[in-house]
Amino acid sequence: MSAGCPGCGAQVRLPAREVERLLQQYLATHPGPLAAPLVAQSRLAICAACEQRLYGTTCRHCGCLVEIRARLQDQRCPAPQPRW
Ligand code: SF4
Repeated sequence: MSAGCPGCGAQVRLPAREVERLLQQYLATHPGPLAAPLVAQSRLAICAACEQRLYGTTCRHCGCLVEIRARLQDQRCPAPQPRW
């Protein structure tokens, strides 16, 4: 499978440090509470086993990086039948 988005060619496989940088960038403009570490860990475990996760990083339903979405307290799984 290609590492690029089929729509725009952007890189979609991101190292952890890049995900962290994007999370901090997001929080700079959208300040909000983070999920408790155990909550985020639990969410990410569900995403890790989810067939809707693409490239190991991205949710098919919303296009979000799951590592970021799962760490934001007020977010929910966007699947029609949410998994977390
Ligand atoms: S956010 Fe929900 S639908 Fe998306 S990858 Fe995670 S568990 Fe799957």
